[in-house]
Amino acid sequence: MRSILFNAGPAALPEAVLHQAAQAMIDIPGEGQSIAEISHRSRFFENVLDEFKQLFRNLLHIPESHDILIVQGGARLQFALIPLNFLPANKTAAFIDSGYWAHTAMEYASFGNQTECIASSKTQYYRQLPDFDPKKINKQLHAYLYLCSNNTIYGTQYHTFPQVDIPLIIDMSSDILSKPINFTHIDLAFACAQKNIGPAGFSVVIVKKSFLETAQTQLAPALSYKHQAAKHSNDVTNPIIAIYTALLNLRHLHDTGGVAAAQERNSQKAHSLYTELDRNSLFNAPVNPTDRSQMNVCFFAKQEQHHQAFLTYCQTQNIKGIQGHIQAGGFRASLYNAVTQEMVNELIAALRDFEKEHA
Ligand SMILES: *Cc1c(COP(=O)(O)O)cnc(C)c1O
Repeated sequence: MRSILFNAGPAALPEAVLHQAAQAMIDIPGEGQSIAEISHRSRFFENVLDEFKQLFRNLLHIPESHDILIVQGGARLQFALIPLNFLPANKTAAFIDSGYWAHTAMEYASFGNQTECIASSKTQYYRQLPDFDPKKINKQLHAYLYLCSNNTIYGTQYHTFPQVDIPLIIDMSSDILSKPINFTHIDLAFACAQKNIGPAGFSVVIVKKSFLETAQTQLAPALSYKHQAAKHSNDVTNPIIAIYTALLNLRHLHDTGGVAAAQERNSQKAHSLYTELDRNSLFNAPVNPTDRSQMNVCFFAKQEQHHQAFLTYCQTQNIKGIQGHIQAGGFRASLYNAVTQEMVNELIAALRDFEKEHA
């Protein structure tokens, strides 16, 4: 029996997608070989990459002004590649520190380069988004502004992005494909695959072509976004199983109404869970209500002894993956696209039953 999975990442995938991927592991229909065996230079995989990029563009209405790159490695590799590609020695990168991943990206960019934290909500335990003053941006000094759209660990999310007149770079690892995004004013967005896109092993980078023109050229090809774009993301041997499974997931998203329909489902799911947490006498959700994430719902047991007891109770209900990140403590239910309202209802029922038994 499949568990009711609220994993933060690698995350739940739709069961229909897993069945198709399982079939391809033995024999890709019409190819006579496994997805684990096929060449990255094959016509089949060239078509997979093309369809992936086209479907990704269509699903998010990404304008032709932007390139879509599929690159090896996860989000942290992009933390390292972004300053290598876009932070010249005489400039500084401006960061909004909204939590662990934004802060880690800033540390990655500090190696040999300059960073400036221009806003932080650390003293509020990252339970709200930082206050951001656009006057802190210095066009002469700052190469770009970097922020994280959804703070996976602390459960805050940007519902609109700040407007700035320097390039804007956004880590969208944990909320891409969960809602429509206007990419017009975003110079670079990236996401590791293992939250809403598919299995771990690669990242998607959406980069404005005019911004890509400004990238450093004195880089080893495997580290250069420009090189990856010139090679249509098929230079190094890609993680073919992960990308193919992600394509199956994109097709599934398309067939279930696309990103707008996903947003509607995601809003409903998050609303139902936050409503229960705000009502339940034994739990609380401490994130500032206007900054609450629709993807990662963080909550705590009000009484210490209920923490382990609720985890144990969830296990008996076949509910998994709700332990909070070690940095934040408490609980976290991740409600990515593949998590259904029915699954959320099971968690809500568990919260209610636990309250009845322990209040
Ligand atoms: C998961 C996550 C990361 C880290 O991803 P890796 O692929 O493990 O490096 C970075 N940023 C955000 C917002 C995440 O959710």
